[in-house]
Amino acid sequence: CAPSYETFLTQHYDNPKSSVGKQYCDVMMKRRGLDKPACKEVNTFIHGTKNNIIAVCTASGGKDYGKGLRISLRPFTVTTCKHKGGSTRPPCKYSDNKSSRYIVIACNQDGKPVHFDESL
Ligand code: UDP
Ligand code: UDP
Repeated sequence: CAPSYETFLTQHYDNPKSSVGKQYCDVMMKRRGLDKPACKEVNTFIHGTKNNIIAVCTASGGKDYGKGLRISLRPFTVTTCKHKGGSTRPPCKYSDNKSSRYIVIACNQDGKPVHFDESL
């Protein structure tokens, strides 16, 4: 399967951070369809502009991190959602962790992000 930029945005882009109340991750993981068919274990939402995220694929915003990955030159504000355990079937319950981190992503040949690997 070919990972796509559109899917990356659905899974990992939320800027500005959506005001959805206290349980941000529970709401967003459902809204983005990441609760089906089973609760996705870990998912990071990036609260940065598309331009700044795309720039990680270029020398102005990122650098090689090996294995086809790129790491951002500057930290992004991100929220990482972690499945709390219990049932892996919806409704999914998540813990929220908002922090400033360097993002590690993969880019396609068009210079667009297609995979979120980790944040440091
Ligand atoms: N992921 C994420 N943030 C993280 C780590 C993982 O959003 O900090 C997501 C990302 O979509 C990644 C997926 O979880 O593609 C799977 O991650 P990983 O390969 O580490 O876990 P596994 O494949 O072992 O489930
Ligand atoms: N993907 C796919 N088949 C796979 C693995 C991944 O189609 O076996 C696609 C997935 O639909 C998404 C992209 O690859 O478009 C990213 O995969 P993942 O769900 O692990 O999230 P990401 O790596 O982008 O954070």
